[in-house]
Amino acid sequence: MDCQYCFGTGWEIVKGSGARPCRCREEDRTAALLTASRIPRRYGDCSFANYHPQGNNFVVDDVFRSQSHALNDAQKLVREFPIFDLGLLFMGPCGVGKTHLAVSTIRALIDKGVRCLFYDFRDLLKEIQDSYNPVSNSTELRVLEPVYQSDVLVLDELGASKPTDWVRDTMTQIINTRYNDRKVTIFTTNYLDDPANNAEESLTDRVGVRLRSRLYEMCKVVRVKGNDYRTLINQQPGQPTGPLPLPSGSRR
Ligand code: ADP
Repeated sequence: MDCQYCFGTGWEIVKGSGARPCRCREEDRTAALLTASRIPRRYGDCSFANYHPQGNNFVVDDVFRSQSHALNDAQKLVREFPIFDLGLLFMGPCGVGKTHLAVSTIRALIDKGVRCLFYDFRDLLKEIQDSYNPVSNSTELRVLEPVYQSDVLVLDELGASKPTDWVRDTMTQIINTRYNDRKVTIFTTNYLDDPANNAEESLTDRVGVRLRSRLYEMCKVVRVKGNDYRTLINQQPGQPTGPLPLPSGSRR
């Protein structure tokens, strides 16, 4: 059915000031950007509005502070894009909402018309591996081109793959290409710089010293503290799965 504003012409008449590209084209563009972004369905409804910093009621503790700062940093990136090209590195234990915030950031950017892409780093490495052509000794551009070209890229679960030489080389190539092109990248990782327990590996152990230092140059490090939101929610009987509601004891 034709659009009620432009009747299919693509131009909307504005009283007193002529014509402008119709709002329906903008909606189409946002929908196309959203589809191209590859945001997993599990995170499809994540937004800044439904990220609720955890913490004790009325006591501003470390967890509440870190999660509120993380939310602010993500919203600031959206506000300031594209003037600033510093990405974010969300670092913290599992389930504290790092991916939720990374997805919320690109969703808000997509609403601004920005080309964004989401990849779990392990899936990306697998796709690169699967598309590798031993005859031409190259990976299909189909996989890598959007990774290089997207204005903002989320690489989820940095360091989660076993750090073989091939994995390190491939990570370095992707990250350096984006760095050289001054493209914004948002990372999430469960590996810390200074794990409390000596037996645990650090991010440097997983990605190497050079890549760790490159990440410092291209990202603001956002340390997110807290407990796994899923276990907090599961303690409340009868709750549906994510994006998850507010756990008891938290405040908006
Ligand atoms: P991480 O990436 O840190 O492992 P996720 O972002 O995958 O954690 O969060 C796990 C689930 O918990 C998701 O469904 C997410 O939407 C939800 N979640 C985590 N933290 C929050 C929060 N502070 N407010 C609302 N939902 C949250």
